[in-house]
Amino acid sequence: MPLHKTEAVVIHTIKLGEADKIATLFTKELGKIKAVAKGARRIKSRFGSSLEPFTHINTTLFEKGNYNLLRIRQADIIQPFFHIREDFEKISHGLYFLELIDKFLLERDVNKGIFFFLIDTLNHLNNNDELKRLFVLFGIKFLKLSGYQYRFDKCISCGDAPLILFFSAYKGGLICDSCAKNNRQGLLPINKGTALYLSNIHKEEEVTEETADVMNEAVEIIKGIFADIIGRPLMSQEFINKIR
Ligand SMILES: [Zn+2]
Repeated sequence: MPLHKTEAVVIHTIKLGEADKIATLFTKELGKIKAVAKGARRIKSRFGSSLEPFTHINTTLFEKGNYNLLRIRQADIIQPFFHIREDFEKISHGLYFLELIDKFLLERDVNKGIFFFLIDTLNHLNNNDELKRLFVLFGIKFLKLSGYQYRFDKCISCGDAPLILFFSAYKGGLICDSCAKNNRQGLLPINKGTALYLSNIHKEEEVTEETADVMNEAVEIIKGIFADIIGRPLMSQEFINKIR
């Protein structure tokens, strides 16, 4: 019965039988896994609130016959991220981040870079109110960490950087006016200021002015990229749209 001790973030849980839960955890040492918490739905459960989504925990897991479904022996809270739970906008952003992590990572695919990045992102979400900036920063960095290469500085077809631009999530970056002439399907118009803002974040350079227009457009571009990769809008995105 091999034991695993690891830090983890709770991605989500579902009910199992009368009193148990199956938790999807993003663990530092084992990657994304599913694990049963026996008795977790009982009022006096030893797990307390440690298996709520967003919670950063130290956990002990063991294998019991099924490689794809571990058991949780113990879970101790490292950071509860209470402030995320107190605010609907923060909850919706946090759920969007967790849903992306869940969709992008394969089970047992260890990725400590993305693990630490998620902890960092949840800390920012817990302690700051600049949600649009966090959303865009998360999006760009997460794409990079996941190996996606998007171009925000020049037209991906001809390499020009003209004034009138579009963005193609499908093609992976900016498209200039003349390259867009033949086929405008799936293209979003994008202002030069927004393209520059995204490009600066992408290159980790100092960012340009964050006007409301730039931030709104940047958020739409990031949502469009993830919807394109996943093949549809994320479930939590509809939640974000509703509360705005
Ligand atoms: Zn072009």
